Amino acid sequence: MNSIAELNVGGPDQRKFVISHAGTIAKQLAPDLTETDMSVSVMARSSHATTLKFSYAGEVCVVKHFPVDSPKARAGYLRERDALRAHARSEKVPNLKFFSDEAGFLAITYIDGDNLRDVIDSESLDYTCFAIGKWLGDFANAAPFKKVKGNWDRYLRHYSEFYSTFSLDQNSDFLRAFTYERVVLSKNDGALSNLMVARDGKLFGVDFKNSQFKPMGWDLLLTARALVRLFPSETNRCIAQLADGFCTATGADSEQYQTFLQVAAVGAAFAISSGTTEAPALTALRTYNEKSDTPAQVVGHTPFLLKQLQKPDPEKTRALFDHLMQLELDSVSAEEAQPTGHEGTPPVEFEALCRGCQGNCCTLALGRKAFIDAKTAKRAALYINEQATEKVALNYISYLPEQHVQGSCLYHGPDGCALPRQMRSDTCNKYQCRAARDMLKRIETHNPDGVLCLAGKGADFRQASYVQNDKIANVPLGMVTPEHNHG
Ligand code: SF4
Ligand code: SF4
Repeated sequence: MNSIAELNVGGPDQRKFVISHAGTIAKQLAPDLTETDMSVSVMARSSHATTLKFSYAGEVCVVKHFPVDSPKARAGYLRERDALRAHARSEKVPNLKFFSDEAGFLAITYIDGDNLRDVIDSESLDYTCFAIGKWLGDFANAAPFKKVKGNWDRYLRHYSEFYSTFSLDQNSDFLRAFTYERVVLSKNDGALSNLMVARDGKLFGVDFKNSQFKPMGWDLLLTARALVRLFPSETNRCIAQLADGFCTATGADSEQYQTFLQVAAVGAAFAISSGTTEAPALTALRTYNEKSDTPAQVVGHTPFLLKQLQKPDPEKTRALFDHLMQLELDSVSAEEAQPTGHEGTPPVEFEALCRGCQGNCCTLALGRKAFIDAKTAKRAALYINEQATEKVALNYISYLPEQHVQGSCLYHGPDGCALPRQMRSDTCNKYQCRAARDMLKRIETHNPDGVLCLAGKGADFRQASYVQNDKIANVPLGMVTPEHNHG
């Protein structure tokens, strides 16, 4: 390869990955060629993986990179690799071209098309739901399977997001009688954005990091839940067409499947997870879902920090400088200075929650010199390419904002933290408050389509945002506040 002509890959981790592996990928794409440019861009990013598009010598492929140092990402990598191999002959998934267990990447064929979530609309709903149902049926038919007898009543009891719904309790007789005879290697993910529609209209499944053996029909249930959330007023249409499509492929009884989806998917689509969330946030979530076309299933709620600014106290600046000057940078090796417990890019929902909160946790750094210790300063020294302690200390001082948030860290400026991430402590880079941890846990359990992030004390909300498909949108406060009738 000659060089990387275009490298539009965002964060330092992705950049490092591309620079280390571009040569290997180029060789796999065009083994006999050595003299041409490659271009690389990010297609998607999540906390578990980054999906990149590589173009080289007229060849295009998608490379999904998992930060496999983290056990969670490694498990996701292995599940996806094995699912792509197992489904290779079904023609329902992109071809796995090559992969590296060591570097944690999978190279698959590029599907020229759109994700289904972006193209599905009310007009094409019947046809598209039938096609999705048929795809899910064909996919399940082609999947590796194990013969296991079971009934859906017993199975769904393991899943509180399904079983806590009123509908299931009322219909447990039907669910007990609705049995399955096999578990199949399933996508285990109902996200419509993980189905691609190619230019010729063919459907492909992407993203198999959650893949697991599940009862035949499980993927149909998750997909029905996602569709009903997206088209709440078209529930019957979605379910009838999905079930018809699925049963056309599998030969099962469509009426039975329609009842199953009505009972299991519709209730769960609008069940709200309570977890440890306080009541005002749940009320706001219900209000938001009544007023909005794009419902949320999980809500995060933090306090709101008012940004009153003040000039830094010169004595505190001096104390920070003195603290930095006495740090022994030589006592830390370059290896030890590397960040610990880093698990890739933080999830977008976390970013949205922190944005609304405006940095309550940074008040914990008050009087603690922004948690900067010798390890942090050594990492900063490597980042700015300076050896001398004084140079590093002066550099830190140069980043102090002219004004900081009252009662908070000296670096807590009007636009958030004024320090580059590489110069912040591990504490700052890794910290997640309880509200954030609770929200992220619920996201992991419920795999929601949309997340509502709120900031404010009790029901006095000051900021609200909505996250879907890695995008953050501001929500007007009127959308999360119930209307009172003062009549
Ligand atoms: S971690 Fe929690 S307290 Fe800190 S900024 Fe984010 S939401 Fe706010
Ligand atoms: S250094 Fe930045 S992230 Fe850390 S406490 Fe201060 S303002 Fe917050």
